[in-house]
Amino acid sequence: MAQSPCDADQRRYQGPARSVYAAIVDGVDAKRRRFRFCLAHLEEYMNRVGPHLVDAQLDLGAAPGHTRPPCPACGQVPDDAIQIFLTVYPDRDVRDDYWGVACANHRARAEALLGLD
Ligand SMILES: [Zn+2]
Ligand SMILES: [Zn+2]
Repeated sequence: MAQSPCDADQRRYQGPARSVYAAIVDGVDAKRRRFRFCLAHLEEYMNRVGPHLVDAQLDLGAAPGHTRPPCPACGQVPDDAIQIFLTVYPDRDVRDDYWGVACANHRARAEALLGLD
């Protein structure tokens, strides 16, 4: 099986690719990127990004007024929010979806966090 390099350091690695689909959506304007990481860099990415997001599966049945995660840049709950979507395939047949929000005026910092800048 041909191996593509890890997007974190461009090195080839053993084992399956761990894919991450990151997106920031601001109305109809979306910025998306797919990453392929080795296991170590997937863990590093998720340790950085994960604490700012919530598990989208758990959120599905949430009642109105459910607490949203704060903006990763300023820690405030945004009034004028843009949305962050992250889908992670940590292993074959495993899919994890995460969701978050950021202030519209902190979009650049949210993009930097996700590696979309
Ligand atoms: Zn790597
Ligand atoms: Zn903010």
